[in-house]
Amino acid sequence: MSVVDEVTQANERYAGDFANADLPRQPRKKLAVVTCMDARLDPARFLGLEPGDAHVIRNAGGIVNDEAIRSLVISHHLLGTQEAIVVGHTDCGMLTFTNADLHGKLGPEAASIDFQPFPDVADRVRQSAETIRSHPLLSDSFKVSGFVYDVRTGEIEPV
Ligand SMILES: [Zn+2]
Repeated sequence: MSVVDEVTQANERYAGDFANADLPRQPRKKLAVVTCMDARLDPARFLGLEPGDAHVIRNAGGIVNDEAIRSLVISHHLLGTQEAIVVGHTDCGMLTFTNADLHGKLGPEAASIDFQPFPDVADRVRQSAETIRSHPLLSDSFKVSGFVYDVRTGEIEPV
């Protein structure tokens, strides 16, 4: 069975007893989470979130870049979130390469892309939190805190 077959069958089972048809669009906890796309991270579970509780914005590294800011501004101004948490994690793939590595591997078509790798997770989380804190469209009424999730223990530590 292909992976697509597996996930569509899983969806049939999921939709068979679906009970979330009436959730409001605005996240109940007024929370936005920015975290990494890493397959080991299950933010809803490690943060105790139910469907409808929070926005979860994911990308490679869980970094607050222009695209994450776009989502956070919409989250805050249109959908009522009042707070963000940024969650990096140990053993992140973004620690394992440089732009030069990837440009060399992928050739000229990649040369103009900044893949936004970073050498230190906690530092990058602090930088992302500061990007939110200092953003003119988020600064005054939007709280932010940062954490590092440990892929070996499941714990988050504030940074
Ligand atoms: Zn990662």
